[in-house]
Amino acid sequence: MSSPQDPSHKPSTGPERTTQQPPFAPRLQIIRKARNYLLVCFLTFPLYVYAVTELLGNGLDITWLMLGYMLLYAVFGINMSVKRCPRCHQQFFVKKYFLNPFRRSCAHCGLDFDHIHGEPQ
Ligand SMILES: [Zn+2]
Repeated sequence: MSSPQDPSHKPSTGPERTTQQPPFAPRLQIIRKARNYLLVCFLTFPLYVYAVTELLGNGLDITWLMLGYMLLYAVFGINMSVKRCPRCHQQFFVKKYFLNPFRRSCAHCGLDFDHIHGEPQ
């Protein structure tokens, strides 16, 4: 009369977390993603230059391509510069006035992307 499935074996969905994630990991992953977006922009710059020279060579207008590319930089740059460090709550990539897109750690407290995987030794 009893079913072969035992309800007590279902996975725990209680308030306890099964995976021990470092405390800053979710915010750091968001910050790293913002950085990667801008780096992709940098890496595709030769492609942009190629497209511009091709269009100009064919006598076509490059205004919209230029504006679109500049807008993309502006959006990703602003998105990056407003990211705040989860530990010290300062701007992660901005020390004083300038944004450093190659930075891997907080400009103020030094919290690093390595902290995503736990406290480095
Ligand atoms: Zn910090």
